[in-house]
Amino acid sequence: MGDPKGFLKTARETPRRRPVDVRITDWREVYEPFAAERTERQAARCMDCGIPFCHNGCPLGNLIPEWNDLVYRGDWAGAADRLHATNNFPEFTGRLCPAPCESACVLGITDSRGNTGEPVTIKQVEVEIIDRAWADGGVVPLVPRTRTGFTVAVVGSGPAGLAAAQQLTRAGHQVTVFERDDAVGGLLRYGIPEFKMEKRHLDRRLAQMEAEGTRFAAGVPVDSKAQLDGFDAVVLAGGARVARDLPVPGRDLSGVYQAMEFLPLANRHGADAPVSAAGKHVVIIGGGDTGADCLGTAHRQGAASVTQLEIMPRPPKARAENQPWPTYPMIFRVSSAHEEGGDRVYAVSTTKFVGDAGGAVRALRLTEVAFEGGRFAPVPGTERELPCDLAFLAMGFTGAERPGLLSDLGVEFDARGNVARDARYQTTVPGVFVAGDMGRGQSLIVWAIAEGRSAASHVDQYLRALPRPALPAPVAPTARPLV
Ligand SMILES: Cc1cc2nc3c(=O)[nH]c(=O)nc-3n(C[C@H](O)[C@H](O)[C@H](O)COP(=O)(O)OP(=O)(O)OC[C@H]3O[C@@H](n4cnc5c(N)ncnc54)[C@H](O)[C@@H]3O)c2cc1C
Ligand code: SF4
Repeated sequence: MGDPKGFLKTARETPRRRPVDVRITDWREVYEPFAAERTERQAARCMDCGIPFCHNGCPLGNLIPEWNDLVYRGDWAGAADRLHATNNFPEFTGRLCPAPCESACVLGITDSRGNTGEPVTIKQVEVEIIDRAWADGGVVPLVPRTRTGFTVAVVGSGPAGLAAAQQLTRAGHQVTVFERDDAVGGLLRYGIPEFKMEKRHLDRRLAQMEAEGTRFAAGVPVDSKAQLDGFDAVVLAGGARVARDLPVPGRDLSGVYQAMEFLPLANRHGADAPVSAAGKHVVIIGGGDTGADCLGTAHRQGAASVTQLEIMPRPPKARAENQPWPTYPMIFRVSSAHEEGGDRVYAVSTTKFVGDAGGAVRALRLTEVAFEGGRFAPVPGTERELPCDLAFLAMGFTGAERPGLLSDLGVEFDARGNVARDARYQTTVPGVFVAGDMGRGQSLIVWAIAEGRSAASHVDQYLRALPRPALPAPVAPTARPLV
């Protein structure tokens, strides 16, 4: 433990966000630089608890107290080493993770629910370690010394597929990652906006992977099992891309899109995207992170107004009784996109899209709802209309796409509609494994990386017929967040 009184002397501090009026004129990340000395002081707040609950909060089992101590002592290279021991891509999680580790930090407990404490800025320390390692030339290709002669196909290049590929390549297998989009990265590339993570971070990591020997085949959809003939093992990592729809009158009007019809275009074309919010009244249906990404994007494109609708009531500011420390609580959060403007409306449900004479949406009808008898019921007399030239559905995803590869392979699905797997991440088809959202359902990047690492461990064991795994497997397929 670095400084035994660190948490008493230093308050929690995170980097400032760039001024709103400046940052919505560009697509760059929103945070200002954070000086190394300040990071070292923040790391010194870590108490190196006897039982570091943050380890359990992080699906990767990141060695948080170890790298906090190394940062406090100024050993940034040592800290990067310990960070990479459990996480292939800390520059992704350090920017994008909602940091369940911080909700589990012991410094968060100052009352029976863990409400008012100030946890260590774990995520911020993480991103500073890895950014500095890149800047100092400390992140280099780790080329395997021996080759096994086995070949592995990874289908899908999101964080799960990339983590699996890097682990398997480094173990000496010849890995090819197939991606149907024109560029590699999955949701990191075309879902998550640039202002949350600039794509240069992804490209830099992909260059490292290529130098290590991973092959990438972008623009290649794998639609049949015949395309996988000749590979000794397969990892399915195609995500959970079937979006939940809203079957209300007017759904087919022009101007009503799924969020994932909008965000990839914005990621490709920015303000010149063919579907643009410029000058429009935008309504986003869904109060989660995908909705917030639409919000930040719409503002950058110059929307006239943006309203985000959520069927659930507004969450409390502090932990609820049934979500005590160290769980990740449902509380009212203000993301950078929310700070940039727009209205958030809670406990409402859309009843109809209203069109103009040309078949384009011009308004949205909604009603307030109350949760009664296990369902959301409309509150009589609360129906009203919002101007709406562009609507985005951001209501989550229901599972993997079944037509094409999955049906041709004949893999089975679990009760939730995800690709079924056993305790070793193997599907019902021998030699075919599954990792990430495709097996878990819609989740987080940190879980996708943890699953990719774990699946890789089992693939390696399967290929080399090892009695026990040689690679780390941080999570079982059945592991779930602490709730
Ligand atoms: C808009 C949005 C924002 C998000 N923001 C965050 C965030 O800030 N933080 C966070 O932790 N999580 C976030 N998430 C969730 C996170 O992005 C996902 O949980 C994660 O990307 C899942 O990784 P994955 O590798 O399983 O799949 P994906 O990232 O979905 O990648 C799957 C890839 O497989 C490809 N593919 C599918 N089928 C085939 C095929 N047959 N042949 C070839 N390629 C195929 C797809 O094109 C895709 O590129 C967000 C999700 C969305 C939709
Ligand atoms: S990956 Fe997420 S949960 Fe793990 S240490 Fe980083 S911010 Fe915390």
